[in-house]
Amino acid sequence: AGLPWPVPFEHSFAERLPGCYQPWQPAPVPAPRLVLFNRALAEQLGLGDVATPLLAEFLSGRQLPPGARPIALAYAGHQFGHFNPQLGDGRALLLGEIRDTSGRLWDLHLKGSGATPFARGGDGKAALGPMLREYLMGEAMTALGIPSTRALAVVATGEAVQRERPLPGAVLSRVASSHIRVGTFQFLAVRDDLAKLRDLADYTIQRHYPQLRAEANPYLALLRRVLEGQAELIARWQAVGFIHGVMNTDNMSIAAETIDYGPCAFMDRYDPATVFSSIDHGGRYAYGEQPRIAQWNLVRLAECLVPLVDDTDEEHAIALLTEELNRFPDVFARHWQRIFAAKLGLRPSSAGVDEVTVSLIHRFLELLQKEAEDFTLAFRRLASHLRGTDERDLGLEPIPATWDPWLQDWQRHIDATGEDRRRVAARMDACNPIYIPRNHLVEEALAAAQFAGDLGPLQALLARLEDPYTARADSIRYSQPMPTDWGPYRTFCGT
Ligand code: AMP
Ligand code: MG
Ligand code: MG
Repeated sequence: AGLPWPVPFEHSFAERLPGCYQPWQPAPVPAPRLVLFNRALAEQLGLGDVATPLLAEFLSGRQLPPGARPIALAYAGHQFGHFNPQLGDGRALLLGEIRDTSGRLWDLHLKGSGATPFARGGDGKAALGPMLREYLMGEAMTALGIPSTRALAVVATGEAVQRERPLPGAVLSRVASSHIRVGTFQFLAVRDDLAKLRDLADYTIQRHYPQLRAEANPYLALLRRVLEGQAELIARWQAVGFIHGVMNTDNMSIAAETIDYGPCAFMDRYDPATVFSSIDHGGRYAYGEQPRIAQWNLVRLAECLVPLVDDTDEEHAIALLTEELNRFPDVFARHWQRIFAAKLGLRPSSAGVDEVTVSLIHRFLELLQKEAEDFTLAFRRLASHLRGTDERDLGLEPIPATWDPWLQDWQRHIDATGEDRRRVAARMDACNPIYIPRNHLVEEALAAAQFAGDLGPLQALLARLEDPYTARADSIRYSQPMPTDWGPYRTFCGT
C-alpha cells in the first residue's frame, strides 16, 4: 500500500489554452476492474506505487486521482477529406500532465469515459475489445521503435455498451507526448482566432520543439519539424506494414507519434493497395497511400500557419510554407530508402543510399507483390538464406527459385561490401521483426479476453510483440501468416 497517487498533475495545456477545451467530468461506472496494467510505463511515470483497487477507480474515472482536472479537448478535422469544424474529445478526457522520472511531460488521458459536449450524439463509451486492441498495438509499435502513444491500463467498467449487440465496456488510459493534433490548429484557424492560434503554436513549440524559439521564423520552422517527424514516422510505418486506417487530420499528432488506434492493422501479403478498414471504401488510407496522405494533412496544417508565418503578406507566407511542403517527398524518400536498405542488410554511404540499393529495394517489393508473399517473413527468410542455414524450425520457409535473379544481384551487392554474410544477416534480423500483431492472432486474443474472460492468449501475444526480433522455436504460430481459410480480414472503428 503506497501513496494514493504519488505524482502531481500539471495542467499546462488547460492553463495556457483556454477556449481549446471544456472542463468535464467522467461518467460514473458501476464496477471497475483492472484488466491490463502497463507496469513498465507506470514505473517510468513514477506511478509504480499505486495499489490495484485504487488504479481501477482512478483509471476508470470513477474517482479522480488527486490533482486531476479533467477536460475534453476541442479540435476540428478533415475526415476522409471532408472538413468538420467541430469534432473534439467526444468520449475522452485529459486528466492532466505527468512529468516522468526523467523530467519529460506526458498527457494522461481517459478514453471511453462518457459523453462530453463534443460527443455529437455518440454514447461516449468504449467496448473492451477495441481498447485491448489499442493497448496491444501501442505496445507492439513501441517495441518496434516506432513513436506511439501507449496505454497505461484497460479497466473493464462492468457495464454493457450497446453496439450491434451489447459488448463489455471499458476505459483505456492513454499516455501521449501530447494530444495536439493538426485538427487542434484547424479548430482555431477556422474560427479566425489569430491570438489563440499563436498561443497554440507557441505552446506547441515550447512543449515539443523548444529549440525552434531561436529560429528567425519559429512558425515556419514548426511546419518543417512536424513534416520531418511525420515523414520519418510514416517511413517507419511502411517498413513494418502498419496501416493506420483513419489518417484524418484529427488523428495526426503534432508530436509525430502514432495516435488514435482504430481500424489499424498490419499488412500480411505485400500489396500497396491493402486496406482493412470497412469504412475506407475508396482506399484513401491504403498502405501505399499513407505517405501522400501525410503530405496532404501537412498542407492542411500549413494552411493554418499562414497568418502566423507572415501576418502582413499572405502571398509571402504561402510561398515560404509551400517551399517547406515541397520537401516532403524527398525527406520521406530519404528515410524510406535508409530504413528499407537496412532491412535488406545494406548500409548507406555518406552520400546516402546508392542507386543500386534503391533499385534492389524496388525490385524486391515488386517481386513480393507479384508472388503475394508475406511482407514480414520475406525479410527474415532473406537473412536466413544469407546464413545458409535451414530455419524451417523457426517457421522460415526456403526461398523459391523464382527469386533467384534478384537474389543473385542482392548477394553480389552484399558481398561487394566485404562484410561477413552472417554478420549482415544478424543486422537484418535486428531490424526486421519476426513477430507483428497478426490479424488472426489479435482477433483470437481479443475474443478470448472479451467473451471467455481468458487473458492468456492476449498475454502470450503481448510477450512475443514486446520482443519482436528474437525468433523462438516455441513460437512458430505467432510468426505464421493468417490461415487461408480465415480471410478476408476487415476492421471496424467507432466501437
Ligand atoms: P476516432 O475515429 O476514434 O478518431 O473518433 C472520431 C471522433 O468521433 C472523435 O471526435 C471522437 O471523440 C468521436 N467518437 C468516436 N466514438 C464516439 C462515441 N462512442 N461517443 C462519442 N464520441 C465518439
Ligand atoms: Mg481520433
Ligand atoms: Mg478517438
